[in-house]
Amino acid sequence: MDRRSFIKSTGVATLGIGLNYSKTFSSNIKPTSNPVVIATWDVKNATNKAWDILIKNGESLDAIEQGCRVEEANKDGQSVGIGGLPDRDGNVTLDACIMNHKGNCGSVVYLKNIKHAISIARLVMEKTPHVILAGDGAKKFALSMGFFEENLLTDKSKSDWINWKKNEKYKPIINVENHDTIGMLAIDKNNNISGGCTTSGLAYKMQGRVGDSPIIGSGLFIDNEVGGAVATGLGEEVLKTVGSFLVVELMRQGYSPTEACKIAIERIVKKPESNYKNFQVGYIAINKNGETGCYAIQEGFSMTKYDKSGNSNIKSLFHDKKI
Ligand code: ASP
Repeated sequence: MDRRSFIKSTGVATLGIGLNYSKTFSSNIKPTSNPVVIATWDVKNATNKAWDILIKNGESLDAIEQGCRVEEANKDGQSVGIGGLPDRDGNVTLDACIMNHKGNCGSVVYLKNIKHAISIARLVMEKTPHVILAGDGAKKFALSMGFFEENLLTDKSKSDWINWKKNEKYKPIINVENHDTIGMLAIDKNNNISGGCTTSGLAYKMQGRVGDSPIIGSGLFIDNEVGGAVATGLGEEVLKTVGSFLVVELMRQGYSPTEACKIAIERIVKKPESNYKNFQVGYIAINKNGETGCYAIQEGFSMTKYDKSGNSNIKSLFHDKKI
């Protein structure tokens, strides 16, 4: 059975997204537009920082770390680093992961009082024999690496949390101020792809909850022969479908980044008893050719892209009209 008949027999062709069957993945693709950096949401300061590194022949991994740090240090962003909204008990806990072009990765979960979770994730990758460090162990490691503790709960996030406590109604927030988990993907001038993801997770989550963002394969996945993908939105749904790995594997099969993100979103939407109208998930992706794409369940998601034509915010295609 050739690829075309396989796709037909498995029903993929019925998705109706203009699939290009003749385009099978080739690891010999000649990159045309590198470097490129993309990020979830409207975060031009972060992509600007990453671009500065990439355009000077810097490595994609450095661009990712430095780009993510911009948002982690931004007190006004209430879903990343300092200023992140807390769990329902008032603790700001951070999740982050990073992955390089060699297939190495590092991650921190439930990190408290250290704002640059992305840097700790990188150090886990580079300085330890492990992939994931959690909670007190992650903090102890960060302190041993010279990081310092600070209060991450700003006055604004604290007062929002106190207001929320009056009703304590838990509902995932869709499109938080157009600014949510920061996921970033970059391909450098040497055609190496890296990615990172940093978040304070869902606002008012249960204490101890960990989402998709620090879980390799769910919140982020990179395969330097194919491309990379990163997720934002309701992490539980991304975890259940191993979303970012799925997007990369779809690109390996020849789908464009947008097509791959769309199919991964459909996987969530079409689940039995899916209540997708009540939450948001968005993916962004890049392939080895420097082509990029994004797709979300609902209107309102966007991607920031910095390439040779500049730094711009691009509205994502989506499955469903605004509710
Ligand atoms: N994906 C993140 C999480 O579930 C949150 C987000 O992107 O809004 O923790």
